[in-house]
Amino acid sequence: MNTRPEYDFIIVGAGSAGCVLANRLSADPKNKVLLLEAGPEDRNLWIHIPLGYGKNLTNRAVNWCFDSVAEAHANGRIDYLARGKVLGGSSSINGMVYMRGQRQDYDLWAQMGCRGWSYEEVLPYFRKAENNARGPNEFHGVGGPLQVSDLRDKPPILNAFLKAGQEAGMPLNADFNGAQQEGIGLTQTTTANGRRNSAAQAYLKPARGRPNLRVETGARGQRALFEGRRVVGYAYIQNGQAIQARAAREVIFSGGAYGSPQLLELSGVGDAGRLKAIGIEPTHHLPGVGEGLQDHQVFRMKWRLKGKPGTYNERTRGLTALGEGLKYIFARRGVLTSPTNPINAFFRTRPELETPDVQIQLFPGTYNSMRDRALHKEPGVTLGPTLLRAESRGSVHARSADPFADPLIHTNVLGTDNDLRTAILAMRYCRRVMETEAMRAYYDFEMAPGKDVQSDDEFAAYAREAGSSNWHPASSCRMGPDGDAKAVVDAALRVRGLEGLRVVDASVMPAVVCGNTNAPTIMIAEKAADLMLAA
Ligand SMILES: Cc1cc2nc3c(=O)[nH]c(=O)nc-3n(C[C@H](O)[C@H](O)[C@H](O)COP(=O)(O)OP(=O)(O)OC[C@H]3O[C@@H](n4cnc5c(N)ncnc54)[C@H](O)[C@@H]3O)c2cc1C
Repeated sequence: MNTRPEYDFIIVGAGSAGCVLANRLSADPKNKVLLLEAGPEDRNLWIHIPLGYGKNLTNRAVNWCFDSVAEAHANGRIDYLARGKVLGGSSSINGMVYMRGQRQDYDLWAQMGCRGWSYEEVLPYFRKAENNARGPNEFHGVGGPLQVSDLRDKPPILNAFLKAGQEAGMPLNADFNGAQQEGIGLTQTTTANGRRNSAAQAYLKPARGRPNLRVETGARGQRALFEGRRVVGYAYIQNGQAIQARAAREVIFSGGAYGSPQLLELSGVGDAGRLKAIGIEPTHHLPGVGEGLQDHQVFRMKWRLKGKPGTYNERTRGLTALGEGLKYIFARRGVLTSPTNPINAFFRTRPELETPDVQIQLFPGTYNSMRDRALHKEPGVTLGPTLLRAESRGSVHARSADPFADPLIHTNVLGTDNDLRTAILAMRYCRRVMETEAMRAYYDFEMAPGKDVQSDDEFAAYAREAGSSNWHPASSCRMGPDGDAKAVVDAALRVRGLEGLRVVDASVMPAVVCGNTNAPTIMIAEKAADLMLAA
């Protein structure tokens, strides 16, 4: 057994949240901080070139590439669940869409008993985190570590689609993270000067030189070390060696919505009966661990286009690709600077709803499947109508006592009739947008589901065949007040019933926000760091 010197804070998981914590906690030279990450350094070239996203979507060197269980409401299909396994975590492989969700999301958290998490209370942390290229205003900040930029590449298809959305009834929205979310508009991205700005680049890189911060990669979390009810250290495995480190103040799990429930259960924290059944000695009975997993469910549709829309398909092959490569190298411009979804749209499937319940993500390209992402030759677009408030909740649990075993993930996609109904309305609306006058110059034909699909039953069948996770898992270690038996952490993100252990990442969201989850996770970690430093 190897031991390390004593630290003040030990953070397990160097993803969106873990990198923020490592930076903020080590800013005071008096705090000794250890950051553990199962994956490698973020040296892979495709991490840093935005359109390189597709290359790492199934690359096991930097991606956990999890599978769901066979999902009953999706014809027994196994869903593919990408997750970053590298410094920066999922922020190193994500689509770089900068989105915060709705004001009402955070007000709901506060209403659910999570004091301190209302919109007015979290807005300062969103502003503190960001350096928005548009400058400051009441919603946005400058001078923060996270670089938020406008698109550098705007092919003709973007303009056509913006017009199509308006023709179909959506207002133009210049800032989804401003006064209101509803409408269609261009995406702001977590990029800087045409390069990805992951949490590792934004927060960890500037702190790497600090003598009081130690970062260990290839370090697989094993279990927390207890003295009574208090967590006093952490055991992990690196290069086949068992290592222990003591924590004078706190251990923080930032393994993400799939990782943190597993880290807790491997430490004996979870439902005691479930733990015994898989050979783990319970240390603290906490039945909510891993339950209530929520995600955004997406039902991708594809169209073949004609003419010269400038989609990723035709611009990433042959001589055009060569030109784009040179443009990128010499000017940091062109298609390689693009995020996955340069346009987003938020709309309500029913007029009686107060805020949007569906997000449409435009990917200006087509490919066969998530596991086969080779772009097609001919131009095309993929629209991803995404349920923002899916009712279905799933679960994630350790499969066994083996820290190297993948967790057991049940997404429960389309678990309720209402989710199916919303998916059908969302897909019908996407078809309407694509069939507007504004798209006529480019519209060739609908590839998937295809025009044979017309009735609700046919759309439902397609939803079951095509519905999948949009890789925004959350709420598997959710925060809640004392009376809430299924809450895992309190409003200060301390694991209930224990001392010296917090969970800080997307898993603590009481309910998933109505938008992409990277910026909200970074906000959570910014606020958590303040709470820890004040403690
Ligand atoms: C393909 C993809 C595309 C996405 N696109 C977007 C987007 O465009 N915009 C957006 O806002 N959000 C997007 N997201 C979601 C967003 O990136 C995540 O919600 C966010 O990064 C979650 O942060 P986290 O800190 O909770 O977890 P993560 O960033 O996943 O970090 C968890 C870290 O813990 C490590 N870890 C886990 N288990 C262990 C262990 N046992 N031992 C040691 N280390 C461990 C992991 O390797 C990882 O580095 C996307 C996600 C994916 C996967």
